[in-house]
Amino acid sequence: MSWVIQSQATDKESIELEESLFFTGNGYIGIRGNFEEGAPDEIQSIRGTYLNGFHDIVPISYGEKLYGFPDTQQKLVNMIDAQEVQIWVGEQDEAEQLSLSTGELLNYERTLYLDKGYSERKLHWRSKHGHELIVTFKRMTSFQTKELFYQHITITPKSKDIPIRIVSNVRGDVQNFVDPTDPRIGSSHAKTLTVQQTEANDTASYIEVNTTASELSAAVLSTVKINQPTATTHMVVYDENVETEIAFTLTEPTIFEKRSLYTDSRHTTDLKQTLLQLQHAMEPLSAETLFSEQETYLTTFWKQTDIQITGNQALQEGIRFNLFHVLQSTGQDGISNIAAKGLSGEGYEGHYFWDTEIYLLPLFTMTNPKLAKQLLLYRYSILDAARNRAKEMGHQKGALFPWRTIAGDECSSYFPAGSAQYHISADIAYSYIQYFLATNDVAFLASNGAEVLIETARLWMEVGHFSKGAFRIDAVTGPDEYTCIVNNNYYTNVMAKHNLSWAVKAVQLIKEHSPAQYQELKQLIQLHNAELEQFQQAADAMYLPVDDTLQINPQDDTFLQKKVWDFAQTPKSNYPLLLHYHPLTLYRYQVCKQADTVLAHLLLEDEQTEEVMKHSYDYYEQVTTHDSSLSTCVFSMMGARLGYMEKSYHYFLETVRLDLDNTQGNTRHGLHMANMGGTWLAIVTGFAGMRVKENGLFFRPNIPKDWESFSFRLSFRDSSIQCTITQEQLAVQLLSGDAVTIHVWNDAYTVTADSMIQVAMQQGEKVNE
Ligand code: BGC
Repeated sequence: MSWVIQSQATDKESIELEESLFFTGNGYIGIRGNFEEGAPDEIQSIRGTYLNGFHDIVPISYGEKLYGFPDTQQKLVNMIDAQEVQIWVGEQDEAEQLSLSTGELLNYERTLYLDKGYSERKLHWRSKHGHELIVTFKRMTSFQTKELFYQHITITPKSKDIPIRIVSNVRGDVQNFVDPTDPRIGSSHAKTLTVQQTEANDTASYIEVNTTASELSAAVLSTVKINQPTATTHMVVYDENVETEIAFTLTEPTIFEKRSLYTDSRHTTDLKQTLLQLQHAMEPLSAETLFSEQETYLTTFWKQTDIQITGNQALQEGIRFNLFHVLQSTGQDGISNIAAKGLSGEGYEGHYFWDTEIYLLPLFTMTNPKLAKQLLLYRYSILDAARNRAKEMGHQKGALFPWRTIAGDECSSYFPAGSAQYHISADIAYSYIQYFLATNDVAFLASNGAEVLIETARLWMEVGHFSKGAFRIDAVTGPDEYTCIVNNNYYTNVMAKHNLSWAVKAVQLIKEHSPAQYQELKQLIQLHNAELEQFQQAADAMYLPVDDTLQINPQDDTFLQKKVWDFAQTPKSNYPLLLHYHPLTLYRYQVCKQADTVLAHLLLEDEQTEEVMKHSYDYYEQVTTHDSSLSTCVFSMMGARLGYMEKSYHYFLETVRLDLDNTQGNTRHGLHMANMGGTWLAIVTGFAGMRVKENGLFFRPNIPKDWESFSFRLSFRDSSIQCTITQEQLAVQLLSGDAVTIHVWNDAYTVTADSMIQVAMQQGEKVNE
């Protein structure tokens, strides 16, 4: 059963939550799990269809607008809605609409098939007039044909000769969800799309829309089909929607199909022509073919990405649920990315953050490098915008990647917890380095990576300075958003150090392996040796202090001088603190929204001693609220790293079920993608202790005490390996490619086609709690 997520719930809270949990997406289209017939009255439905990265531009209004504040913001728009299919039951004058709140619901169940890639909703229902039927709604966004949203509805009679009228709609009169009371959701500019065209012929309806300011257009071509020869069809074209009505008498199981094809002006110039051609090409494909293509795609995905746990079915379900939704939300076209809520909702207005590079990319880098490359290419595509932003922020050189964006422009209107998070530029650099270390793809490093590394290194030279022999970085915000605009945030400094030294290494590598590309690169970005020397000096002199008394890395220059937040006197209902306290109140205390220094230790463990990492973990754990969903997975991983297996497991449980149990209370606004990627990380980087370093692939295996075993696959430099960890040992097997050398604890082993590696677990390494 661990391949399905099922629910029979019909209460208000569950229906609202499940709009996110049961969303279907394919990296391009995302459709929330709304009801075809519309939501019951008491439900605060967020009805949504999104195309990854398809956005409008809306003005930001400030009370006091200072220099360099962005004027506008990109915003994911709610797209043309093709979900609607109403089923009316009974004779014309007494017809009732099938829904959860009318007639009598005899049975209800919804299922998300993680292995087959579609969702299903089954209603066994009786009308007031005694007509009884079972309706099964299946929906799928196709991975094979990115433009396709497919609905397949089976209506099975349970009483005789039922008059049925299906009313299917495609609506251009859509708007975004707003909530002015929650800073994590859009507060205005609900409607920005304008319908340009609505058309229909006997079989298809077509709607085209334009954005208000971003100069984008999108269209949908939707066709319906029913296997009922006596059915009569009637289409009506309105200004902003097209309605198709089909009437017939239900005597035997009947299938109604709706194929809605979406495209937009970022992918084609002639929207209508593209969709007509696609529709034509897809016409011969049966429902079986569409579903089986979807399953084939998912079989490949799971082969590479699945994590199998023996000993805990509930967790197995949770892990697969999270991995599935990450896949559904990941842009694969090089011009889109993974929004904080993926394609499951509008929270954070569809923006891309550092979440991708630090929490999600490792999963793809290590299981599907081709897809990882697409995400890196997206960042490359906005490098010029980042260069411009650096200038706007007063820097002569370099690239400052936007804290939140869709198409490259900075969209953050609250700069202390937004633009000031300069670390995103080092995070992006880090992900290029990790990708290189995992793939050894020098050509990509030369064509794209080096430019990103050098431009971001230049930024650090601009923003930092040498003082008393150390290189310091002032006035930035680290990952912890409850502590803003500080000097020498440890996370930022250590990540900048890595960024600077790798800019130098990348250039050396390219010079060695690809001299022609080296010359091109030098020309392209006007690179001189003296500049590389400065990068190295700054990296070597980077200020990374250790507090003498506590033996920890201070989060920043003043963090440890502040008063510790009074946790004992803070009622549970006041969390997340950001919804109950003015930011300045939070900034005055030692209180962290999320992992900061602990995350730095996870990413760059060789920069500190075991002692400092351990003391830091003990210290920051006491002052961290985990109000951000980006936190518990980090504490899980570092817990495992330091031998705190009980803690590690506790944080893992919070991570894996965060959306399923709605523990942050806001899952209905969209799923927490970074945390979902963090689930994979917590197992692979956490329990298995996997690290990709300059000198290879490392493991420090651990296993929660309730699990019999867990296993996963990794792709490393064109080879594929399978790792299985039991209470007794780590076993590594080569599945394809050349032999791979791995390091377990401190020893090196070579895995070849005919020799599996087995290394006993080192219980002794664990620190007692
Ligand atoms: C977190 C950020 C994160 C953003 C989007 C915020 O609550 O503090 O670190 O990037 O959410 O997920």
